Amino acid sequence: MGLSPSKPAVTGAVLVGPNGCGKGTQAQFLKEKYEMCHISTGDVLREERRKGTALGQQADEYMREGKLVPDELMLDLVHNELDKPQCKRGFLLDGYPRTKPQVAKLEEFLNARKTPLTHVFYFDCDPETVIERTSGRLVHVSSGRTYHSKFKPPKVNGKDDLTGEPLIQRPDDARDKVAVRLNEYFQKTQPILAEFRQRGLVRDIDAELPIQEVSADIDAYMNHKPPPSRQPATVNQRVTLINEEIARLQRQKLRWEAKLSQ
Ligand code: AMP
Repeated sequence: MGLSPSKPAVTGAVLVGPNGCGKGTQAQFLKEKYEMCHISTGDVLREERRKGTALGQQADEYMREGKLVPDELMLDLVHNELDKPQCKRGFLLDGYPRTKPQVAKLEEFLNARKTPLTHVFYFDCDPETVIERTSGRLVHVSSGRTYHSKFKPPKVNGKDDLTGEPLIQRPDDARDKVAVRLNEYFQKTQPILAEFRQRGLVRDIDAELPIQEVSADIDAYMNHKPPPSRQPATVNQRVTLINEEIARLQRQKLRWEAKLSQ
C-alpha cells in the first residue's frame, strides 16, 4: 500500500514548552514507539561542553545562567544531526527551535530537503508545575533518560534503571535558574507558537495530565486522531469542554503574568 501523496513520508516533530513540562519523558516515549531520532539541543550542547569544544565553552556561561545561547551559535547546530541515518524515517526536535530566527533557519533547511515539519506539540502547563517538576528532576547523563523523585522515581534510589549508573540534578534546575529559564521561554520561545499555529502545525497537549495520558494524547495526534482525553460525545459536551478550556487558559495567563512580574 503506497503513501497518500498529501502525507509526508518523514515525520518531523517539534516539542515546545517550558522546561519541566515533560518534553524529555515524552521524547523517550515517541522515540521508542516510532522510528524517530531524538535531537535535544540541550543534550548536544552539554556534550559539546563536556568535550571542551569552542562551542561548548562559548555556550557554557549562558547555560549556567539559564539563558538561551545566542542564535549565531545555534543556527547550524541541528543540521548535521538531522542528516544522520537514524533520522531518515522521522525526527524529533526537543528544545529546538526556541527563537524566531531558529524557526526561519530550520524551516529553510527542512524545506530544501523536502522533509517539512509535520507536528508541533505544545506542552501547556502552569508555572507551579514547572517549578515542582524541575526541582525534582534527575537525569542519567549519558543516555538522557530523565526521572522525577516524586512522579517517576527510578527503581533504585539515585540510580539509572538500565545501567545502574548514578543520576544527577542539573545545576540549571536550581530554583533561581529555573526562574530565568521561564522568563527566557516566555519572552523568546512562546512567540514562535503563533507562527506554527498559522500553518496549522500546533497540537496542544495538556501537560498537567499524568504521563500515560499525555503519551496517549500525543499518540493519537501522531495517528491523526483526536486525543482520547478530549473526545466529547455530544455537541453540548464539546461546548462545555471548550468553555472549560477557555477558563483554564485565562486562569493560566493570569498566573503566568503574576509569576513573571514577581
Ligand atoms: P535544555 O536541556 O533544553 O533545557 O537546554 C539547556 C540549556 O541549553 C538552555 O537553558 C540553553 O542555555 C541551551 N539551549 C538548548 N537549546 C537551545 C536553543 N534552541 N537555543 C538557545 N539555547 C539553547
